[in-house]
Amino acid sequence: MPRFNLNWLYMLIAVMLLGLYLTNEGGGTSKNVSYDEFQQYVRNGYVNKVVAYDDNSVEAYIKAQHVKDVFQQDSNKVGRNPVITTDAPARESLETFLQAERQEEHFDGSVNYPKKSNYWNAILWNILPFVFLIGIWIFFMRRMSGGGAGGAGGVFNVGKSKAQLFEKDGAVKVTFKDVAGLAEAKQEVEEIVEFLKEPQKYTDLGGKIPKGALLVGPPGTGKTLLAKAVAGEANVPFFSLSGSDFVEMFVGVGASRVRDLFRQAKEKSPCIIFIDEIDAVGRARGKAPAMGGNDERENTLNQLLTEMDGFGSNSGIIILAATNRVDVLDKALLRAGRFDRQIHVDLPDLNERKEVFGVHLRPIKIDDTVDIDLLSRQTPGFSGADIANVCNEAALIAARHGKKFVGKQDFLDAVDRIIGGLEKKTKITTEAERRTIAQHEAGHAGLSWLLEHANPLIKVTIVPRGRALGAAWYLPEERQITTKEQMLDEMCATLGGRAAEELFAGKISTGAMNDLERVTKQAHGMIAYLGMSDRLPNLCYYSNEEYAFSKPYSEKTAELIDEEVKRMINEQYDRAKRILSEHKEQHAQLTQLLIEKEVIFTEDVERIFGKRPWASRSEEIMAAKEKKENPVVPIENLPQVEDSSLPQEKLDEEKDNE
Ligand code: ADP
Ligand code: ZN
Repeated sequence: MPRFNLNWLYMLIAVMLLGLYLTNEGGGTSKNVSYDEFQQYVRNGYVNKVVAYDDNSVEAYIKAQHVKDVFQQDSNKVGRNPVITTDAPARESLETFLQAERQEEHFDGSVNYPKKSNYWNAILWNILPFVFLIGIWIFFMRRMSGGGAGGAGGVFNVGKSKAQLFEKDGAVKVTFKDVAGLAEAKQEVEEIVEFLKEPQKYTDLGGKIPKGALLVGPPGTGKTLLAKAVAGEANVPFFSLSGSDFVEMFVGVGASRVRDLFRQAKEKSPCIIFIDEIDAVGRARGKAPAMGGNDERENTLNQLLTEMDGFGSNSGIIILAATNRVDVLDKALLRAGRFDRQIHVDLPDLNERKEVFGVHLRPIKIDDTVDIDLLSRQTPGFSGADIANVCNEAALIAARHGKKFVGKQDFLDAVDRIIGGLEKKTKITTEAERRTIAQHEAGHAGLSWLLEHANPLIKVTIVPRGRALGAAWYLPEERQITTKEQMLDEMCATLGGRAAEELFAGKISTGAMNDLERVTKQAHGMIAYLGMSDRLPNLCYYSNEEYAFSKPYSEKTAELIDEEVKRMINEQYDRAKRILSEHKEQHAQLTQLLIEKEVIFTEDVERIFGKRPWASRSEEIMAAKEKKENPVVPIENLPQVEDSSLPQEKLDEEKDNE
């Protein structure tokens, strides 16, 4: 189908106007008169043309000089062809009358006897424009509502909910077996499953079942999967939709979609409604005055709240919603009787990653070089979805190499690729550039080896990857809390790249931008949010207000924060330079090795710098397990610190900007 284009519209309108003009004989006033009057006008000699239709209606055109006599108006007011209409008694009598008048020379015009088709024309031209306009309107409505749901979709369906329905006996069924890890979360939702299976057990005792639960966690950690598993285990229908599905540009649509969703759900009850990314509608109301356009969202949210109150807790509808930003949600959503439970779904830790690998390796043909332990250790910070992606990518890589089974190296390549993007061996770098990159990366590598709390290195490369010119992979320790010393050591290692450039190349380059950005953010977070500086101790200026136009501290404090950030970074930079210049020879060796081999591993660094004198945390934990005692403080006994607002570095590898 040719694409619609506005020019067509203009052309059609032009053609229509032209047609109207032509068929209308220039348009003029018309006046209905009796047959007697008509005869009188003819006798007076006013008429110059008669059109007699076969249904005996007659039109008579008036001579210009007599217009005033007939219409009592000036001829310029009545249009070009003023006409009178009347009904003749019969065709024959009209004929004889006109014949007689012709002979008496009262009438000398022409007489036509056309068929009566003019009515149709008139009707057509009156109605066509409306049909046309309505057509255009429908067309645009359809386009706005995202093409409609096909078929009879379009305008009439904007208010319908867009939820996808998974019937209880559907083809794919997810159960708890498909969800790896997440033990606590599973335990929490178990109760919901129980309720859906046997509601009487609870209601007989007078208990009320939660109407909803909120799954909170970063993307890809299996929130949707968990909700589907609940539906699968309880064997009930499952409605899935995203918060943004409620949002449409028409006012009132969101609210009517909410209503429609609950209507459908009630028909299918017991069932589960899953709303992904609920923050799209559930943001706190009225936080952004004068931003405009959020009334619609508020209406939608209000409707949602009303519906949640509207059904009794034993009507069998349970709402699960997912978000990774509870802090922006409206408090009304979180109060008892709505989403009164929050289930945290976090990034998997080492053991959970093993389980996730277990689930996703099931369908893949692997050989026995694949070591799940190693893979899990190499993928810190990966979410369940990332791991699923690694497994799939590894299979693709193996297939590309024409292998029968997927091997260890395919998995490692897949991990590298997912962290750093595709290797770009063809990117042209000059000898001098390579040297600078190598010095920079060796700076990071050396410092992270020499600092007690920095993350130990796994691998460094100067092969460009994605947008990065070089990269280093570290094995971050999965700590539950981080001390100031650990953060400072990390900061120092991150600054190692720039420090090495300045010390050994004598000039600094743009390659360190990413490092600097990270360091600045981290220092700011430590000082303004974590109260870790000497001059601003124990103060947290964190605010979750989205549109905070005023800062919660004075100008003076703002200056102080700036100064402290500068001081902290400068101190760490000087420390990095000092340590590197103490280990000048080793750094030079590492640089040379990098230039030659392009990729170096832990062993190479260890050979040059010597063994690290400190045991890593994971080694400590292993040792503790063997000794059956616990040298490290058990996490449970420590007060749980609210997650710091520091940007959680998802992956602890380091990338350098071009
Ligand atoms: P979310 O809704 O939290 O963004 P999803 O539930 O959509 O994440 O997860 C995306 C995919 O990641 C799932 O389809 C699944 O293949 C994989 N996945 C995530 N977490 C897990 C897990 N705990 N166990 C198994 N697979 C997982
Ligand atoms: Zn760097």
